[in-house]
Amino acid sequence: MPLLQALTFALHHDVTNVFFYESPAMLTTLDATTLDSIASLKRSDRMPVLFLGHGSPMNALPGNPYFESWQTLGSDFGRKMARPQLILCISAHWLTDGWWLTAMKQPKTLHDFGDFPQELFDQQYPAQGDPTAAGAISLLVRQRSAKPLGLAANEWGLDHGAWSVLKPMFPNADIPVIQLSMDYGRAPDEHYALAQQLKQLRDRGVLIVASGNIVHNLRQMQRGASGSQAYDWALEFDQTIGGYVQQGNLAALQKFQKLGTLATMAHPTYEHYLPLLYAAGAVDAKEPMRFFNTSFQGGAISMRSIMWG
Ligand code: ZN
Repeated sequence: MPLLQALTFALHHDVTNVFFYESPAMLTTLDATTLDSIASLKRSDRMPVLFLGHGSPMNALPGNPYFESWQTLGSDFGRKMARPQLILCISAHWLTDGWWLTAMKQPKTLHDFGDFPQELFDQQYPAQGDPTAAGAISLLVRQRSAKPLGLAANEWGLDHGAWSVLKPMFPNADIPVIQLSMDYGRAPDEHYALAQQLKQLRDRGVLIVASGNIVHNLRQMQRGASGSQAYDWALEFDQTIGGYVQQGNLAALQKFQKLGTLATMAHPTYEHYLPLLYAAGAVDAKEPMRFFNTSFQGGAISMRSIMWG
């Protein structure tokens, strides 16, 4: 059963491998102090927020500039920046009905792609999960009707949108990782609104890593295009969105569909755009930011990545 249907089924049939809290008492009695009881989430300096363009799954293998940029970025944590206590990853590749957190001790490495070399299927990223922290976060960050986030104890794991960037960044896999799904049935502004609740986690040593692409049109990809080559519509959408980010006009990001044909060319389906709303929602407009990996893959995938904070 595909995951989306599986989760929907679970909600309606009390399947034991997916928990869903609906106690009204919990809704009123738990607040931010809940996190104080979680040993893995100590108060911290505010952590940065990352939006990473992940592009081709092949970028997960050494020998390309994106892999190397993720290595460099990761090595700055624990030196120039505090080491995260927990990573919360929002990937383009986990779409669900309702919002869910992975809540298993040992998330499995998912090889959720098709025709690629065996070396890619052999990749493992054995980072631990953190079911206790997931439980606390599920109560702090509410979805529609103030429901806690769902806890997926056995479903999912770490998809390639997550591990392809996290493995180069933190090769020792010694920081626990939780994934947050995206409810693909919801409008962009609802994703942005939910993400605004994630901001508080940054003061608890949580590194928010949103993994997608600012332009993502696989059908239009051109083999052999260099990193500086892109379609006009890809360049224009990438620069427009980049401009909103640079101006601190983060609320405009959720209205990307107003760009009309430009938006539908850049995103025939927009699951790779949505993670940007999670990163943007978790930051303040005036926070310092920088771009990196401002290049394209196949002329139709923007690798533009952003660090705030
Ligand atoms: Zn992807």
